[in-house]
Amino acid sequence: MAPRKSISVSDRIGALEECAIKFKDHLIDTSGVALTAILRLAVAQCARDAVYCKECAKELPRDACLRPGTKIYGKVAAIHHSVPRLEGVSDQAEQVIVTIVHTMVNHQGRMDKDWYDDSLEAISKVGLVPESVQQQEKRHCLVISAFAEIMCIATMSHGINMAFLTMGRPVPRLPSQDEILGGTAHGQGPLLLDWSTILKKAPTQDLSVAFAYHFKQGDIDKKSKDYLRISEKARRDMKVYGDPLHPSICLVFAAEDIWMLHHMESIYYIPEKDMMALFRTRLDPTVRCANEFSRFDVEFVAHEVAANNNCGY
Ligand SMILES: [Zn+2]
Repeated sequence: MAPRKSISVSDRIGALEECAIKFKDHLIDTSGVALTAILRLAVAQCARDAVYCKECAKELPRDACLRPGTKIYGKVAAIHHSVPRLEGVSDQAEQVIVTIVHTMVNHQGRMDKDWYDDSLEAISKVGLVPESVQQQEKRHCLVISAFAEIMCIATMSHGINMAFLTMGRPVPRLPSQDEILGGTAHGQGPLLLDWSTILKKAPTQDLSVAFAYHFKQGDIDKKSKDYLRISEKARRDMKVYGDPLHPSICLVFAAEDIWMLHHMESIYYIPEKDMMALFRTRLDPTVRCANEFSRFDVEFVAHEVAANNNCGY
């Protein structure tokens, strides 16, 4: 079999840029499940700014040893983060967004179950989910959705930022406030899905799977009215990620964002078939897959990620 033709560097950069533009359009055109378009833009902007936060590095260095039982949410919330204001967001909502996003970007190795639970509690208190949603179960699920939306959007925005900073190329821009205010997502508002009617049983927190709430494929009532309000492409994506062993299962509450995240992964991440090619060669370090990267390249990236996040990845 002829070796697969590798793509050129300029093709690769073109594909990364095209996907970054798609992410910008996604923020303008796609309604979130729980968050308004303005809040979603604030999250994306916050992820871009967080990398430059001097106070995060000073107040909570990655190698600092904390007293056992320290609550990370409170610790990060107490930092006076050195970042610009988030446009169009209340002070309280901004504090919650900054705390969650700066933890994800700058203190990722410290995220634990208490941090997750504290994040949900903070989201529920500051009006990130509209006060008009009163029904308790619906509201609780929308708080879970708001958290998943923040995670998905921050991950995509941060990923694009770091990829282009690493390449030494200009970082593709986010939408302006005016573009957001003139877009479909702002016009329609969030979907405010009622998960209590989409799911046959309440979402679970099963620590053998994850500390975040999740549901499985079989839990969805596919005839429910609110399930059919989710876009077709997002519903297709939900089918693939219903496996309880799949880490993204917890992010499915951000139904309209998880497909975009998976799309981005398919372009920014190493394709699975290439990744597995490394293992098929019994990890021979001299073998390169698709003429693009070798086992050494993969291990170098893994080592840097682990060192940076102070974790055992
Ligand atoms: Zn910070």
